[in-house]
Amino acid sequence: APARTTHRFEAEVDQVLRLVIRSLYSNKEIFLRELLSNASDALDKLRFRALTEPALRTSEELRIRLEPDAASKTLTIWDDGIGMTRDELAQNLGTIAKSGTRELLEKVRAAGQKDAPALIGQFGVGFYSAFLVAERVDVISRAAGHEDAWKWSSDAQGTFTIEPAAPSERRDVPGSSVVLHLSDEHVDLLRTWKLEELVRKYSDYLEWPIELKLEREKDESAPAEWRRVNRGTPLWQRSASEVTPEQYEEHYRHLTHDFEKPLLWRHFRVEGTTEFAGILYVPRRPPFDLFAPESKHGLRLHVKRVFVMEDEGEVLPKWLRFVRGVVDSEDLPLNVSRELLQDSRIVRTIKKQIVKQVLDGLTQLANERPEDYALFWKTFGAVLKEGLHYEPDQAERLAKLLRYESSAVEKGALVSLADAKARMKEGQKAIYYALGESRRQIESSPHIEGLTKHGFEVLYMIDPVDQWAVQSLREIDGTPLQSATAAELDLGSKDDATEQAREESKGAVEALRSRARTKLQDQVSEVRVSARLTDSPVCLVVPEGGLPPHLERLLRATQQ
Ligand code: ADP
Ligand code: MG
Repeated sequence: APARTTHRFEAEVDQVLRLVIRSLYSNKEIFLRELLSNASDALDKLRFRALTEPALRTSEELRIRLEPDAASKTLTIWDDGIGMTRDELAQNLGTIAKSGTRELLEKVRAAGQKDAPALIGQFGVGFYSAFLVAERVDVISRAAGHEDAWKWSSDAQGTFTIEPAAPSERRDVPGSSVVLHLSDEHVDLLRTWKLEELVRKYSDYLEWPIELKLEREKDESAPAEWRRVNRGTPLWQRSASEVTPEQYEEHYRHLTHDFEKPLLWRHFRVEGTTEFAGILYVPRRPPFDLFAPESKHGLRLHVKRVFVMEDEGEVLPKWLRFVRGVVDSEDLPLNVSRELLQDSRIVRTIKKQIVKQVLDGLTQLANERPEDYALFWKTFGAVLKEGLHYEPDQAERLAKLLRYESSAVEKGALVSLADAKARMKEGQKAIYYALGESRRQIESSPHIEGLTKHGFEVLYMIDPVDQWAVQSLREIDGTPLQSATAAELDLGSKDDATEQAREESKGAVEALRSRARTKLQDQVSEVRVSARLTDSPVCLVVPEGGLPPHLERLLRATQQ
């Protein structure tokens, strides 16, 4: 049989390990939920593979067990899950395959230690948290469908070893045992009540039974007794009134690895011809790949409680890609494929409900916790606005969620379309907006001087997505939205004195106009006399159907 081999941790793992230990020191208890979460994932994976590989099915009830042993000062977490091969042990517990790791380390360096826990959370370094309480960790694992069992072992000092598991260490079913050799200061983790408390606190919602080995009263030779400690109905299958905010927060953490609390959650159940339930979360901070073209979606799809796949945009629309959560359908087949998802009537119903839930949640947030909403908007507003374009049906609901800077408020403050509508002046025919690169650029532009002179508010649309998002936004509750750079800008309210002055200078102005027209030739399509300016003599405007000026500059710069 092959002997023990020694491996170096990948350089990044080594750094992450030290970072985890340093920055999560005061938060040690989380090691248990991380390991239980891995055990639960491993059981999910086994159940899913067994759907198509009947050989992997067992008659045993699958479970997770916690076994404290005072004599050896070890705490063992067993699972009957998918297990790992020798290569998988080396790969999964020795490298960080995720491409974001380097980025994480750079971010932590830039942000400093204070933010490290949250950053670490986002990148999911769960397993290594075992070293928060253990000086050595052994993982004995047998992959489903394999006969051989392997032992991975490390004291987190730069290396790990892999060797065949000894007959006394291996179990006769596939799965993994994580053996924590507790450091002296953490032997309190061997107490049954302590473990029970931690499971209840962090992992109660895990669906697989978590059983705890009970301390024997007297007779050391009596057979071991186990007691189930988690309640185990998945959170989304319970009624919302039974679930505490802490449980939602834990569930969110299990799903996302985000240490921050979610900004909001929605728990829903739909019954009738199509039945499904789910919980959706809106995070507080953006995932690192929010604007990457292939950014990951964060919705886990279950069928009758069995995890079947991560959504890749079949269920969650792209413009809600910041949402995290689960949906569990009673009607989809367990062996559902992506192709089937794409044209399923059931999925369309689920999708619609999800859009409704998120928009309801955001509307409520905007009404009840405006400061949190402003935070949401700063982080995800640009993504939500894509919805105007992709789902014009929702434009009316989305319009109420939009926020912009404006001429009526200080830099940094945001207004809604409803605010702007409520502030409309007598004679103001539309809500005006200006597209541009920055607040400063718009404020110094002659296009808005006539508007602001009239006391009309101008919304500053300075987000690159605004120029195409706003096109789906023609009006709000019957009031039109109009671009300040548009050629035809009817500002209404002409008083007699200005009319008279205009009449008198008509001839001179016309001479100037036609001279300008001749001089400028084909640099402009037209020269017009207008009442929109007050201080500036001239300004450039966009004819009907033309591009906004900042965009035209951009296109010219990139020579398109
Ligand atoms: P994550 O759970 O976010 O993937 P972890 O650091 O918690 O990250 O775990 C790393 C990987 O190790 C997991 O993705 C999984 O492949 C593997 N792993 C960890 N624990 C187990 C286990 N009990 N059974 C099978 N595989 C496991
Ligand atoms: Mg994990």
